[in-house]
Amino acid sequence: MKNFDSRARARELAETEFAPRAAHWDQTRSYCRENVVSLSQAGLMGMSIPQEYGGKGASCFEVCLAIEEVAKACTLTARVLVEGNMGCISTIMAYGTALQKSLCAPLVLAGDKPAICITEPDAGSAATDMSTVARRKGEGYLLSGSKHWITGGGISKIHLIFARVLSETGRDEGIAGFIIIIDPENPPQGFEIMRRERTMGLCGMPEAELHFDNLEVPQEMALIPPSGIERGFADLMTAYNGQRVGAGTIAMGVAAGALDRATRYLLERQQFGRPLAEFQGLQWMLADMDTGVHASRLMLHEAARSAETGGTGFPDKLLAARAKLFASEMAVKVVNDALQMFGARGYGAGEPLERMARDVRMFTIGGGTTQILRNQVAGAVLGMKTPQTREGYSNMAGTSPQRVAAE
Ligand SMILES: Cc1cc2nc3c(=O)[nH]c(=O)nc-3n(C[C@H](O)[C@H](O)[C@H](O)COP(=O)(O)OP(=O)(O)OC[C@H]3O[C@@H](n4cnc5c(N)ncnc54)[C@H](O)[C@@H]3O)c2cc1C
Repeated sequence: MKNFDSRARARELAETEFAPRAAHWDQTRSYCRENVVSLSQAGLMGMSIPQEYGGKGASCFEVCLAIEEVAKACTLTARVLVEGNMGCISTIMAYGTALQKSLCAPLVLAGDKPAICITEPDAGSAATDMSTVARRKGEGYLLSGSKHWITGGGISKIHLIFARVLSETGRDEGIAGFIIIIDPENPPQGFEIMRRERTMGLCGMPEAELHFDNLEVPQEMALIPPSGIERGFADLMTAYNGQRVGAGTIAMGVAAGALDRATRYLLERQQFGRPLAEFQGLQWMLADMDTGVHASRLMLHEAARSAETGGTGFPDKLLAARAKLFASEMAVKVVNDALQMFGARGYGAGEPLERMARDVRMFTIGGGTTQILRNQVAGAVLGMKTPQTREGYSNMAGTSPQRVAAE
């Protein structure tokens, strides 16, 4: 990606546009459309898309450099940047057909934030318990079921919907992805955008429930990884490791932003006739905050870099899990400690720290909870492929490909 400095472009936008507007999206619970236009014009939306499809072919690491800068200013906009380069779009660019790529890439480059639809009311961490089905019918499929907590539901055009494929005789073939491109103002028959959640943070991002009722999907919009439908879920989730590193990077960026604010405040605010910075109790808090941010950044960068060497094109599963686990928990603590350093002012809505504390809380839940990530790390340490399945704990040899925890 010669002559394109993702970090410098992101930093400039973050400082001049995203930071001043961050409170607005939060208070009005509105989607940051103006910011997305700027991301798109700066070449940051879809920068990970290969050049032959109009992107810049940016690496996971280069995308992460931009995400950190944006997250320091506006968590919401950083989420759009992650989803405009990782998750759904990177899955399509890795496993999609030429037709699928050529349909989706221009939309993302123009600012669409694609939606990835895995979670269901009765299938959260246990994602492979999903009951959304795609029944084979003639040359295509009929999709039926419900997804909830879908980020972008109601504003996204591209949807990647995970569903259990059933043969015409009802045989369960495994899980595949289905690409549905809609006009969110006028969704097709069989695609309903239901209620929007009211969230504690990231308030400008729609989190919606989607309902599908015999939605017609042509054969050419099925996204089937090279390993086939039966084992395809594992490949689809491999692509999710990039999204996980992106989410961890947002958390780390928010923490880095909070650390900057706290540092400036300790030097400026006086009590007992001297700057807060002279109190050793606060110095030690600051040192721990700095160390946590630094360690997270190293882990995230290591995970992001592993995408270049691992062979799958995506970050290593274990490195991604460890990094997101560590960064998300660190960020909740760092933002909380920064808020404490501001005293009453930190608790008030005039300071961004209360918004940042609400926003950053999400990252220990979405995209694999800290408990599920710990299961994954423990499984690797213990040499067990997936610590839990419907059948109980299993070792490498016995793991079912069909029903495993959503990591
Ligand atoms: C803001 C937000 C945005 C989201 N966006 C999307 C999206 O765009 N697309 C999408 O598909 N999903 C999305 N999700 C859903 C998210 O991926 C799920 O919330 C997550 O996978 C956990 O599922 P759950 O909420 O049903 O919790 P549950 O699975 O019901 O878990 C409840 C609690 O039990 C713990 N737990 C569960 N199983 C185990 C276990 N085996 N061992 C130890 N602890 C366990 C969990 O860690 C958690 O603490 C989003 C969620 C949020 C909050």
